[in-house]
Amino acid sequence: MDPRLCVVLHDVAPATWAACRRVIEAVGEVAPVPLTLLAVPRYHGAPRSLAFDALLTERHECGDELALHGYTHHDDGRPHGPLDLLKRRVYTAGEAEFAALSREAALQRLVAGVRWFQANGWPLHGFVAPAWLLGREAWTALEAVPLQYTSTLRCIYALPRRQALLAPSIVYSTRAAWRRLGSLCWNAMRGRRLQRRVLVRFELHPHDADHAYLRRSWQRLLAEQLQYRRAETVTDFVREWQESLSTPTEPMAYLQACEAPLQNSASTPKAINAPIPAPASTSLG
Ligand SMILES: [Zn+2]
Repeated sequence: MDPRLCVVLHDVAPATWAACRRVIEAVGEVAPVPLTLLAVPRYHGAPRSLAFDALLTERHECGDELALHGYTHHDDGRPHGPLDLLKRRVYTAGEAEFAALSREAALQRLVAGVRWFQANGWPLHGFVAPAWLLGREAWTALEAVPLQYTSTLRCIYALPRRQALLAPSIVYSTRAAWRRLGSLCWNAMRGRRLQRRVLVRFELHPHDADHAYLRRSWQRLLAEQLQYRRAETVTDFVREWQESLSTPTEPMAYLQACEAPLQNSASTPKAINAPIPAPASTSLG
């Protein structure tokens, strides 16, 4: 495969839409590339917004991919011990919704998300867990949902077989000045090393266009990568990657193992059609 590039925008929700729009416009200043928008059905428990749904329909009709990004994007479980507390309350700022859910709770939220997509007539191919943290039981819940891919910070996984592709992410942290500076330096150093990878992902967040110096940094890197990479949505990339694996002449050197979680055969193929009770902390609709 020729080198590819995906631009993914996280945390797309009514509450973040103004900031998301600034990021979308900043990407457009570099090139008119298709985006993969990671949409959250009930961001932090907020009610459904039909006006927001209509905006996403517009984006879909313009060629962007819509993918599911958790259900509330909020980890409302109780941490187990100080390390778990550090990871779930400090490192991910309480956003890792799917890090510690039981299989049943994860499936309930996944299916509620699937139904949101169905109600709007949007095709659904991908699920990305908030903060890329999928607990072991949440992984098994994915088996019951007809999805083509999920991803973590380091890898993309083709589902349902969990074939993994190492695909580096360009990510910026904007929560504090020292984090912004650190991620700016880190990403600037990575440019040359990215050349070896078939896919590079720009994993952008709603506030990545708020600081001019940070915005210019990823815009510059995006322009550089677009000189020799073709931009496409994640689902288009996964489809072509999977097709290339069945072509005997295709070089496969780029396929590198990620640490894939163990398969669990206890899937529930018909769970998608089962009645789904509402998650305890949110309202479905
Ligand atoms: Zn997120």
